[in-house]
Amino acid sequence: MTASARLLIVGPQGSGKGTQGVRIAESYGIPVVSTGDIFRANIKAGTPLGQQVTAILDKGDLVPDELTSEIVRDRLSQDDAAHGFLLDGYPRNTAQVAHLDAFLSGRGESLDAVILLDVPRDESMERLRLRASEQGRSDDTEDAIAHRLDIYERETAPILEAYGDKNIVDRIDGVGSLDEITERIVAALDARGLRVAV
Ligand code: ADP
Repeated sequence: MTASARLLIVGPQGSGKGTQGVRIAESYGIPVVSTGDIFRANIKAGTPLGQQVTAILDKGDLVPDELTSEIVRDRLSQDDAAHGFLLDGYPRNTAQVAHLDAFLSGRGESLDAVILLDVPRDESMERLRLRASEQGRSDDTEDAIAHRLDIYERETAPILEAYGDKNIVDRIDGVGSLDEITERIVAALDARGLRVAV
């Protein structure tokens, strides 16, 4: 069976969206497109893009929309994304939603579902502190975390209204074991007629 699912996973920092995104993409046989991962890989490799964005990431600011959208368009134009993909971390504000919509509608496509991982602020802060001690990400300082959470609430949460109007948002309780949460997401996607790859 050829998988076809165009998905977006959204949630505050520390919601576990990166982990769940990988699991869901694997189940559906689609690639994960994580803008944060793309930027971090470029920083690590010392590419011109990496040099351009390293200070932005460290502060927890957003990379300019046009640059980010261009990177995503390039990535989604690759063959492995022709039948589906899971976006993690993009779009992150309403300008990026407009960029993505324009790109997808140009291909006669649209998102099938937006998975919203719901986690209380206390729980996500706790998970972020743990991640900071385990992974040592340079943007997991108290200041950068607080700044990213502010941006999430101010700029990212509003994108759910736009997608909510299209009835494609699945709000998932993000508290529980990793397997329980994956099962909740799969059940929601299943209810939309989206089937895992076999
Ligand atoms: P988190 O969700 O914990 O903030 P991400 O890996 O999604 O982690 O993003 C890390 C950083 O990468 C962001 O703080 C931002 O600087 C940059 N970034 C990621 N996605 C985008 C985006 N869609 N637009 C602009 N900047 C982005």
